[in-house]
Amino acid sequence: MSLVVMKFGGTSVGSIERIRNVAKIVEKKKDKGHDVIVAVSAMSGETDRLIGLLKEITPDYSLREYDQLVSTGETACIPLVTQSLLVDGYDAISLTGLQIGMETDIAHSKARILNIRGDRIKQAISEGKIVVVAGFQGYNVETGDITTLGRGGSDTTAVAIAAAVKADVCEIYTDVDGVYTADPRIVKNAKKLDTISHEEMLELASLGAKVLQSRSVELGMNYNVDIMVLSSLEDKPGTLVTSKEDKNMERIVVSGVTSDKNQAKITLLGVKDEPGVAVKIFIGLAEANINVDMIIQNVATEDGKTDISFTVPKTDLIKAKAACEKLGKDAGVQEILSDENISKVSIVGIGMKSHSGVAATMFKVLSDNQINIKMISTSEIKVSCIIEEKFTELAVRVLHSAFITEKQNGQL
Ligand code: ASP
Ligand code: MG
Repeated sequence: MSLVVMKFGGTSVGSIERIRNVAKIVEKKKDKGHDVIVAVSAMSGETDRLIGLLKEITPDYSLREYDQLVSTGETACIPLVTQSLLVDGYDAISLTGLQIGMETDIAHSKARILNIRGDRIKQAISEGKIVVVAGFQGYNVETGDITTLGRGGSDTTAVAIAAAVKADVCEIYTDVDGVYTADPRIVKNAKKLDTISHEEMLELASLGAKVLQSRSVELGMNYNVDIMVLSSLEDKPGTLVTSKEDKNMERIVVSGVTSDKNQAKITLLGVKDEPGVAVKIFIGLAEANINVDMIIQNVATEDGKTDISFTVPKTDLIKAKAACEKLGKDAGVQEILSDENISKVSIVGIGMKSHSGVAATMFKVLSDNQINIKMISTSEIKVSCIIEEKFTELAVRVLHSAFITEKQNGQL
């Protein structure tokens, strides 16, 4: 017998029929003798609908009221799941974030978990109950106010609970049946992975593969929680995200190819080349809550000027340009250029740590296909290139075929 956390996303609980189906999956697990904690999202579309209502009043809404409002999506879902279990004759109880003691900081709309008291969960489990917990929500002890964990935050709730109660596994049920070597809508022969490391999954999650919220993977990595990604629509094996040693993992150089079209590039021309200038610009962007990704600074010219280019989410471009205009004066910025027609393609794999020439092969594959590289960034287990947006799908396909398909067939 083991303790299992099962998380169901919005699509999986999108209608009463689907909720009844979720109850059946949970009951099957319970029948096998496991203790079960269920974490659920709001019914699909509900969070967006609520945000839409708020925006009808003002685009400049209070984040405290936002949290108070959007958390109700999950609050409304847990009694529906619980009632389904009850009518089937299973003992179950629904609990909100507040009721399970999900303590967070006060960063409304993107709060971070500080602690989970969890005594009510443990109590209910010891009474043999199935516990149905609202994902996404927490509260701040000092203010007593409801908080939420950021979009997609129910994944993080589930992994955090699994860590807190020392569950054997955290199963994430979703509308895809696992983690693929590439987006199957782009690459027809993309393959489902049996296992992937937390480290690789973290890169894939933050690089644009939307299977899991990246914070949930980070948490899983830090607390060593095995995460199983499964389909709630079909009963078949999924992908295990784990940090357990696996010899095979290291032999595979590239595990996945991914792309992100939500990218825009800003170039600041004529920036003064002296200490303190970069700080001013990037602290200013951070204060405006803009996530800067790649940064490139050129070698300065003789007159002590340089150019700095960086990427931001396309959705933040206007805000980022406005911040640069304000900050640029002091830094001597002569001109601000921007480019929205870009995307980022990346290859990810733990095997890169011990293989050389991976980046060079990526550049060759892109150049063989006449795809120009505008920016490059690398980490120990990934290489990312900024390219023209219209080449995104082509780039993903040719990279997948070079690094994954041909590799399987013993070439390269
Ligand atoms: N309901 C929230 C959202 O749509 C949280 C989640 O689904 O994980 O972002
Ligand atoms: Mg999700």
